[in-house]
Amino acid sequence: MIIGLTGGIASGKSTASKYFAERGAYVIDSDKLGHRAYEPGTEAFAAVARTFGPEVVGADGRIDRKVLGGKVFGRPEELKKLTDIVWPEIRRLTQLEIQAALAEDPDRVVVLEAAVMLEAGWNRSTDEVWVVIVEPDIAVARAVARDGLDPAAVRSRIASQLSNAERIARADVVIDNSGTLEEFMSRLEAAWDALETRRAAQEPAR
Ligand code: ADP
Repeated sequence: MIIGLTGGIASGKSTASKYFAERGAYVIDSDKLGHRAYEPGTEAFAAVARTFGPEVVGADGRIDRKVLGGKVFGRPEELKKLTDIVWPEIRRLTQLEIQAALAEDPDRVVVLEAAVMLEAGWNRSTDEVWVVIVEPDIAVARAVARDGLDPAAVRSRIASQLSNAERIARADVVIDNSGTLEEFMSRLEAAWDALETRRAAQEPAR
């Protein structure tokens, strides 16, 4: 079984994944696969360099994500050029990892964590979509505390992503993380317990 886990910036996806891993899930972090997607020598690397210019290749010979980010942020057409190159490759790497994980143990739960799950349409190959939501002001505060980013920059990133309402509309399971970490952990526990009950009874989430 494959669960797609998504949510906005600093919503609590990594915290949730870590907990689900403790409960026995096999977690795939699509953000990490995103880095691998354009390693030097790959087709995606060449396509990104060709499309965005040699300046996106850093002194170390790798794609400089900061420079690349600066070229696409706030420019939907440029961003689409990038996602058209990178998303199919991330999807391919993800499918390979899912297949390997399920070949090892067909009964395990694979949690696929991806910030852009719904935008990229990867939810089409999951059994359930779980969404972590957090009030935007709280997300800004947590992102600033974690990454030391400028609050205005975080705000504009949140504004450019799907809203909580849009994510909720497409979710099978919604987990709110606007409260304390303790509250979040108990919601994660309840969500995983409910999943185990559903799996035992072979019932869908909704
Ligand atoms: P994401 O993976 O969605 O970006 P994280 O799980 O990394 O989100 O959470 C963002 C930051 O907020 C992290 O530093 C995390 O430790 C912190 N955090 C998550 N949930 C809470 C909470 N309920 N209360 C306080 N801090 C939290």
